[in-house]
Amino acid sequence: MVISKIWIEEDCTACGLCEEICPEVFKVEEVAKVIPGVNFGEYEDKIKEAAKSCPVEVIRYIE
Ligand code: SF4
Repeated sequence: MVISKIWIEEDCTACGLCEEICPEVFKVEEVAKVIPGVNFGEYEDKIKEAAKSCPVEVIRYIE
């Protein structure tokens, strides 16, 4: 399955971990954002790792 959509729910603490793990997809400013126009398929493993590692579990995706 290919990840078709990623979003960040409320309560991101801007810890920076998702950007550290996958800077191609996540950009953390006041809160984490998904960089537009990225081919998620190229970064599936890192996206899943970031979602798993997020301390407040706000990274969601649809496969
Ligand atoms: S890992 Fe989670 S809490 Fe940390 S910046 Fe990313 S989305 Fe926000």
